[in-house]
Amino acid sequence: KRHLVWFRNDLRVDDHPALSHACASKDDAVVAIYFYCAKQFAAHDVGRNQQYLIQKALSNLSQSLEQLNIKLIILTSDDFASSIDRLSQVIDDLAITDLHLNIEYAYNERQRDKQACQVLSNKTNCHRYVADSLVAPWDVLSKQGTPFKVFTPFSKAVYEAMDKSPIHPLSMPTARAKENLNAFQTVSNSDLDEVKPTAKFCPDISENNVHKQLADFVDDSIIDYKKDRDFPAIPGTSQISPALAIGSVSIRRCYEFARAKRGEGAKTWIKELIWRDFYRSVMWHFPYVARGQGFLPVDKKIHWNRSEDDFEKWCAGSTGVPIVDSAMRQLLTTGWMHNRLRMVVASFLCKNLWIDWRWGERFFAQHLYDFDYASNNGGWQWSASIGTDAAPYFRVFNPVSQAERFDPDAEFIRKWIEPLQSLPSKAIHQFEQKPLPNYPSCMVDIKDSRKKAIEQFKVAKESE
Ligand code: FAD
Repeated sequence: KRHLVWFRNDLRVDDHPALSHACASKDDAVVAIYFYCAKQFAAHDVGRNQQYLIQKALSNLSQSLEQLNIKLIILTSDDFASSIDRLSQVIDDLAITDLHLNIEYAYNERQRDKQACQVLSNKTNCHRYVADSLVAPWDVLSKQGTPFKVFTPFSKAVYEAMDKSPIHPLSMPTARAKENLNAFQTVSNSDLDEVKPTAKFCPDISENNVHKQLADFVDDSIIDYKKDRDFPAIPGTSQISPALAIGSVSIRRCYEFARAKRGEGAKTWIKELIWRDFYRSVMWHFPYVARGQGFLPVDKKIHWNRSEDDFEKWCAGSTGVPIVDSAMRQLLTTGWMHNRLRMVVASFLCKNLWIDWRWGERFFAQHLYDFDYASNNGGWQWSASIGTDAAPYFRVFNPVSQAERFDPDAEFIRKWIEPLQSLPSKAIHQFEQKPLPNYPSCMVDIKDSRKKAIEQFKVAKESE
């Protein structure tokens, strides 16, 4: 048999079901392929930061596969549709008998895979595997067999499913015989146009490093995770998200690292991993959310503010609200933002500036190293109160009290906003009362805009 492993958002050799199954018989020939679809990235708003990370991961993957005597063919292709045509050609050229792929949950990816398997099934056997969630979305349903719409019962069902069928990540397959490397020489790699990141820093997402990062986090920090995770000045979270987003580590491996630890910290961290599964489940069962629609119908009734000027200020970190601006500057400089701050800036954009959550979602996609369609969409919809948040729409984050609570000494704010470095924290937190030197005054009245947002929401709800 001749097996082809189709890599996509799963750029690793560890715990990779498609690769492991392709390598199950030691005598079969195995080759791997990846399609770099630049126009598809643009259509999905995947920014330069994440594209750069993918290019790095591809180079790491190519080396790891070479050590297993497996060749990685990298081909360029405009979009998903044309990648299927090229895949079909490669299958013919290399006389592939079996195609292996890990299932992806987002809408366009699902359509692509469905179409690929339909088109190719007359010439090759298509094998699909669950790899990108702790439990497959179709296996987490209520007693009535319906998908969950809120997190808490969903998470209970995930714990139950994991108790029933414990997770065992797969180890890297053993190396093929040397001849396997040269068994497929007819297709040569395309040259990728090198992408430069916009951020100043770039995370190391090589598999070895990520496993070490996880081990260090679990050994040193997970114990305090519950206590520290909301304070952006403390490096209390794992920062594993960029590796998870491009698949250089598997979610099941992350879970395996934490499962061995007892205590509230590990429990809370695992709960966060389940949030990732939750948004995948929402995307799977309610695919309209991936087509620009809100989870709740009230989204259609809202008339958002379409001020480009206001949006620009938010993007640049010049709103005059120190906690919002410091967070946006962290994003622009590092390509990552702390979870607490993602909620704060998203709430500020949607509720205080009344700007369409889709604008913020897009900006995050364009800048985050860890951009993940389901989590980003879920996080934005949650923040705009048109998603799966169990709390009512009138719960609006107050950026002043959020800063006082989660950055009490303004340590994080000072790190990112130079003109505020010598000011006492009290003055920084009281920016509304007294303008801060060399810093813009607040672009909006926080209390008034909150009140207006709630009123507008009420009107939208009543018109449903
Ligand atoms: P940790 O606290 O160490 O958590 C471990 C892992 O659990 C994370 O890497 C992530 O995979 C998962 N996780 C944690 N919190 C969440 C959550 N609320 N939702 C879903 N998964 C979670 N996460 C992304 O991976 N990509 C995104 O594009 C993204 N966009 C977001 C946009 C908004 C508006 C909001 C509010 C949240 C978004 N998140 C996103 C979720 C969360 O902010 C990040 O996963 C987290 O900050 C990553 O840092 P970490 O790896 O240190 O997390």
